[in-house]
Amino acid sequence: MRDLHELKLIRELTHFKDDLIETHELDRVNFEGASLPIIGFTIGSKDKTKPALGLFGGVHGLERVGSHVVITYLTSLFKQLSWDEELRTRLEDCRIVSIPLINPGGMALHQRSNPNGVDIMRNAPVDCKEQSTFLLSGHRFSPKLPWYRGEEDKPMEVESQALVDFCQEQLFNSDAAISVDFHSGFGMKDRLWFPYAKTSSPFPNIKQVQNLKDILDETLPHHIYHVEPQADSYTINGDMWDYIYDLHRDHNKDHPERTLIPWTLEMGSWIWVKKNPLQIFSSGGFFNPIKSHRYDRTMRRHLLLIDFLFRASRNYKSWR
Ligand SMILES: [Zn+2]
Repeated sequence: MRDLHELKLIRELTHFKDDLIETHELDRVNFEGASLPIIGFTIGSKDKTKPALGLFGGVHGLERVGSHVVITYLTSLFKQLSWDEELRTRLEDCRIVSIPLINPGGMALHQRSNPNGVDIMRNAPVDCKEQSTFLLSGHRFSPKLPWYRGEEDKPMEVESQALVDFCQEQLFNSDAAISVDFHSGFGMKDRLWFPYAKTSSPFPNIKQVQNLKDILDETLPHHIYHVEPQADSYTINGDMWDYIYDLHRDHNKDHPERTLIPWTLEMGSWIWVKKNPLQIFSSGGFFNPIKSHRYDRTMRRHLLLIDFLFRASRNYKSWR
């Protein structure tokens, strides 16, 4: 059994005993004699129509920092529940749901894809509507190449299916849900992407995204995020959030007011490499802050955003 530090931290989270916290083993990933769980958390109201914030990380096994941001937030939240009555009252009316590590096998193997060589963020049954970028946009040539989508007409990978099932169960009946999937590795800036990834045509909730961006700009005027549609950077096949977003709309044909806004935070890791070029020779150095002060800063940096989105999800009438 591989020693996976992130899974150890998540197991510690499962030991918190509190009426407001539920832990779910969603599935297991089996490879090379190992069997690693995909663990989900639901926190707050048991009423699934209540507004919700979803926090996700570790889709790509090399991008450990995404899982760390989610684990850091949950650890802080769980500790806060032991003394903050106001937070407990707030959570009676809303929910936080989370899978901090979606691809534990990839993280254990120090690779972007899952143990089958499939890139989870290219694995959904969605095709790019526009000209795509060779390999990067997702392909079906070989699992030995990065960005492999998996074989056509095969079911989704265990990790992808666990994510879809969890979102369907925990977010689809919510009056208003916001989710963030934490990644790293693209460019110098922290980018907050919204759908679509498959096309640069505007997605149906563009108005709500604009409203959310307006209150973000007003509330946190010094924030560092570049808010843009993912397709501005590149279009891809098989994006899980495109797929989940469209499933959500289908599911809610009779409840058009129910909204799910799935964000992807792409932390600009090149800035860490630029400030500390030697780290590209360390394991995961291209995708994660290595120096401890930079790591600490990264952990702090996004807590404000998560807290903002938590409040925004609860106060959805202000933007929906
Ligand atoms: Zn990623």
